[in-house]
Amino acid sequence: MHELRLHNTLSGKTESFVPLRAGEVKMYTCGPTVYDYAHIGNFRTFVFQDVLRRYLKQRGLKLTHVMNLTDVDDRIIANAAAAGVGIRDYTEKFAQAFFADCKALSVETPEYWIRATDHIPDMVRLIERLQTKTFTYESDGSIYYRIAKFPEYGKLSKIDLTGIQAGARVDNDRYEKESARDFALWKAPKPGEHFWETEIGKGRPGWHIECSAMAMKYLGETLDIHTGGIDLAFPHHENEIAQSEGATGKPFARYWLHAEHLLVEGEKMSKSLGNFFTLRDLYGQGYKPSALRYALASVPYRRQLNFTFDGLRQATSSVERIRNFAERLRQGRFRTGSSSGMKERAAKALDDFDAGLADDLNTAMALAATFDFIREANIAMDSGDFGQEDVAAAQKFLDAFEQVFAVLQDNDAEKLRELGFAAPETKLTDAEIDAKIAQRQAARQRRDFAQSDEIRKELAERGIILEDSKDGSVRWKRK
Ligand SMILES: [Zn+2]
Repeated sequence: MHELRLHNTLSGKTESFVPLRAGEVKMYTCGPTVYDYAHIGNFRTFVFQDVLRRYLKQRGLKLTHVMNLTDVDDRIIANAAAAGVGIRDYTEKFAQAFFADCKALSVETPEYWIRATDHIPDMVRLIERLQTKTFTYESDGSIYYRIAKFPEYGKLSKIDLTGIQAGARVDNDRYEKESARDFALWKAPKPGEHFWETEIGKGRPGWHIECSAMAMKYLGETLDIHTGGIDLAFPHHENEIAQSEGATGKPFARYWLHAEHLLVEGEKMSKSLGNFFTLRDLYGQGYKPSALRYALASVPYRRQLNFTFDGLRQATSSVERIRNFAERLRQGRFRTGSSSGMKERAAKALDDFDAGLADDLNTAMALAATFDFIREANIAMDSGDFGQEDVAAAQKFLDAFEQVFAVLQDNDAEKLRELGFAAPETKLTDAEIDAKIAQRQAARQRRDFAQSDEIRKELAERGIILEDSKDGSVRWKRK
């Protein structure tokens, strides 16, 4: 295993990753705000986080990963009020859609998936701690964080605080760097707005306090890793640091990892440009979950990802290529023994794969190692220079690949059906396909080529492609 190095936004450097407690990682990721369907830009970050969590586990680390659902914030309150429903009712549909989207993209369930509205008392207690330490002040029933009281404010996003007026406040959860000011921890209810009755008064939490309170509740006062999209670094993560470190006097998160933006065909994604896509939009156009996951994972997280339909089609064929190789390995009849150097070649591929991911999660490098190996192994198979004893080493490599990238399993049709996208063909099981192939082999043996062709055609109509090899065996794959 190579030394794991991660780029830490806090230090601005790529550092060797050493968890606080050997062998264990405490990780927090800011989840979605469930006021709408998540889009592919959101999922760029969630897939990055999933690749990170899978790789940490592959390295044998014991992971505790918390992801929150922000189910109360300015936009949710406004949308729920406009729809005339409670915020729980309003967000439930989008929370369920998010879980289903994660499942389809093979994004693993974190150890804790938690909702902000289930943790209001934890947020209130944290605000009380900040009040005791005089980090707060009240104005019109709202409670604000006094950033002048936290001299390290700005250390994550490196914003310039000169010219900021003491006591100037901002009430919105989201604002630009130029508007850095004292922010709301607790907001007094406006007429007709949902509120909680608490020890610190009537109201609702600001967005930033949610994550500080929930992260520390489940992971302790100092976390190993905090991640999110780069747009969260300011103000959200900056404010999380101010709140948590203000209250505890301890470092909040030791490594801050941020995923870069996603562009669509070179442009910023926006509804007005007509280039705004949810996962479901793309499934509706016939693209597969595995291709989408691959496309989102294939660009290293700190590089801007230019999402294109051309790229998505390439991703589809890349997944196909890897699946075909896995199938060839499974079904192939190779000569006995092993070929010279193939086991060493597989071991080197595994080492290169790990070197790529250990280098700040360089997925492009890991995939290059994968395709180099597949190409060479395919050549060896074509020339009869791949032995039965080489299968285990090649399979070991594929298993490592799958633990992190999770696109090998051919279950796209099933996933799409679960999301309500009908798949045209009725799916045959492996056993049914093998039985059909045996029938066809028997027909060929009695030289009944009409029947043999008939079976091939029937399988083709149901999306199964047969390949007859020179040694008389038959391989198959799903289209
Ligand atoms: Zn957050």
